[in-house]
Amino acid sequence: MKKQRLIPPASSKVNLADYDPDYTGDYDKQTARDEVRQMQERLQVLQEMLYAQGKHALLIVLQAMDAGGKDSTIKKVFEGINPQGVFVTSFKVPTDEELGHDFLWRIHRSVPRKGHIGIFNRSHYEDVLVTRVNKLVSKQECVRRYQHINAFERLLTDTGTHILKFYLHISKDEQKERFQDRLDRPDKHWKFSIGDLEVRKDWDCYMEAYADALSECNTDYAPWHIVPANRKWYRDVVITRAIVETMEGMGLAYPEPEKDLDKVKIKD
Ligand code: AMP
Ligand code: MG
Repeated sequence: MKKQRLIPPASSKVNLADYDPDYTGDYDKQTARDEVRQMQERLQVLQEMLYAQGKHALLIVLQAMDAGGKDSTIKKVFEGINPQGVFVTSFKVPTDEELGHDFLWRIHRSVPRKGHIGIFNRSHYEDVLVTRVNKLVSKQECVRRYQHINAFERLLTDTGTHILKFYLHISKDEQKERFQDRLDRPDKHWKFSIGDLEVRKDWDCYMEAYADALSECNTDYAPWHIVPANRKWYRDVVITRAIVETMEGMGLAYPEPEKDLDKVKIKD
């Protein structure tokens, strides 16, 4: 299989047709699953050190089309991680209060504090995706928003927050299969919404909007990862690895203990 890059080169124009959603590199399902399990053990330790040290924060942004696997990524990758210190925020259609502020207001309030991991299930990128496709903002306004987003992410990374952004790339056929599964299985009906079919009609417009967002907001301090996501096991291994590698690079350590702990005697 021809090697496919995960992070597009900075300041290049992304063409999503160059990224195969079926790509699985050198992996097979079993190897990928085993590796995820191994890396999760390391992730548990790293997350505990992040929490104990309280110096860094990690923000993980997940974006995808409907049925792209955002929910199941969260469930799978963070399996067995101490829920203390990990916070998921799912961004929905903005409320009246949120619409009364700038588009980054609700986002900024939800970024993780130091010591925490914050996971965004959808994000500020909706404000240059769904809003653009539905013509709630002009193309010109979108260009300004890319700049605001880049400046905002710069502020976060300058102040101790590491940012990992994942676009879960599925094909239109794969989405159809996953929608069908949601229709066929009563336990999955709750995940299906008729409105998703309307969004599906705009698939090509979304791909264009995604390509622009992935091109304009792919910085060295907050890079986009284009994750081939038709195979869930490959998606999971790619994302888990990126998280573990980022955290390994943070210089995490347990904080210095209080002085003279070795002399402490606990009375009966
Ligand atoms: P779900 O993630 O399936 O629960 O759906 C959430 C819905 O909220 C999706 O249809 C998103 O497109 C929509 N949404 C999220 N953020 C925004 C936003 N900033 N503007 C408009 N719609 C949004
Ligand atoms: Mg949905």
